[in-house]
Amino acid sequence: MTPALITETKPEDWTYVSEGGVTIVFLYRGPHNVQFSDHVLRLRKVAHGLSDSTLLGTNTEQPDDPMIAFQENIISKLVPSEFLPSLTVVVLDEVWLRSLVVLRDGDRPSKRRQTDQIDIRRKKGVLATDLIGGTPIAIEIKPKWGFLPTECHLSPESVTLKTTTCRFCMHTSFRMEQGGIGTTYCPLDLFSRDEPRVRKALGALWAGWYESGGSLNNLRLFVEGRMAKPDDDHSMQLLAHFFTTDESTDIQNLRESFTSALAQALLDSPILPLLSTLQRTLDILDVEGLSKLYTQTSSSSSCDGLGSSVPDPSMEEWKDFVEVYQSDHHSLDDTVPSPGHLRYYLMAYLLSATFKDCSIIIRPKSAHVGSFDATIIDMDIKSMDRLWKWEKLDREIVEHYENSGSQRRCIDSQRVRQAVCTQLSKWR
Ligand SMILES: [Zn+2]
Repeated sequence: MTPALITETKPEDWTYVSEGGVTIVFLYRGPHNVQFSDHVLRLRKVAHGLSDSTLLGTNTEQPDDPMIAFQENIISKLVPSEFLPSLTVVVLDEVWLRSLVVLRDGDRPSKRRQTDQIDIRRKKGVLATDLIGGTPIAIEIKPKWGFLPTECHLSPESVTLKTTTCRFCMHTSFRMEQGGIGTTYCPLDLFSRDEPRVRKALGALWAGWYESGGSLNNLRLFVEGRMAKPDDDHSMQLLAHFFTTDESTDIQNLRESFTSALAQALLDSPILPLLSTLQRTLDILDVEGLSKLYTQTSSSSSCDGLGSSVPDPSMEEWKDFVEVYQSDHHSLDDTVPSPGHLRYYLMAYLLSATFKDCSIIIRPKSAHVGSFDATIIDMDIKSMDRLWKWEKLDREIVEHYENSGSQRRCIDSQRVRQAVCTQLSKWR
């Protein structure tokens, strides 16, 4: 199939939806077009003053956005296709992208505008199923880490903290100290499969959304294809129209109706247990155990950062990895990981990070509260050069939390306590 050409549409046909750290999303609102109607355009961003010159040589053909092949070859082996959006290539054009920037940059949050911009040198983007428009409302939840690590590979300093307080709650505390906005949301409540706890998590997500003016990224609400903000009366009326029987925009009432509807949708869906299982079985050593294994191997010198001397896997390697993960994973002795399996564990950690960082879009099947469809989005390949940064961040978060004197108790309902870490002394 020949790829769609973005120049067959006008920049004016696209409205800004939202953005994350690396991509930005626009919704097609132009005249009916087989390729573009009911689709969003996902473009890569680049930090101001930077561009990835290795990828963007002008004389060579640029590869397709790796997100497409990654989903097609890797993610689809782990997540049933009914929970995935369709992704296809769209050929971009620099002049067209420049016009889009002129038209829509003002719709982006100012903080984001100061940091990065659309990468106008890219020649290919991604067209994805539109999960935001064509429906009265859509809800995006970024659930984050849904498990507590096992004790085996944690240091004596971190083991108590890390098996008591979840990574997200520690990170929230760390961010708040640095001036970030707080939230009482704990992912382990959302992942618990226990209705009161799921409702508690959704209530906290709603409160975080409301109190932050919609700026926290763990919950986003969309009405009529646009991001809703709590200070926008029109958005609130539409949310009330959808979620409540009396259309009251009373905030407590709305929050209650929202949590009830969404709790049922999430409890009925296999998505959260699936994500939690993938996250925990791929991050089996914790970054601490991974780091120990890395320094043990002869090929790495102890002074370079975790993963920094390791080349990124090719798509073929990722395919082999998934086969091993699905067939042999359980036969590996994770209590005493073999240095020979280092690359396996590094790749597993990267893939775990993909599932820790993805979002779920929940949209109603009809115009009023009832049943919902859920789709997992934003599953991008993570690269080896992120590992040392994550290890550093992990240390900082734990140190901060230890010094803060807090000790929130987060309950991992699906945690299978490892009966014995018998090899522990040997491993340490
Ligand atoms: Zn927590």
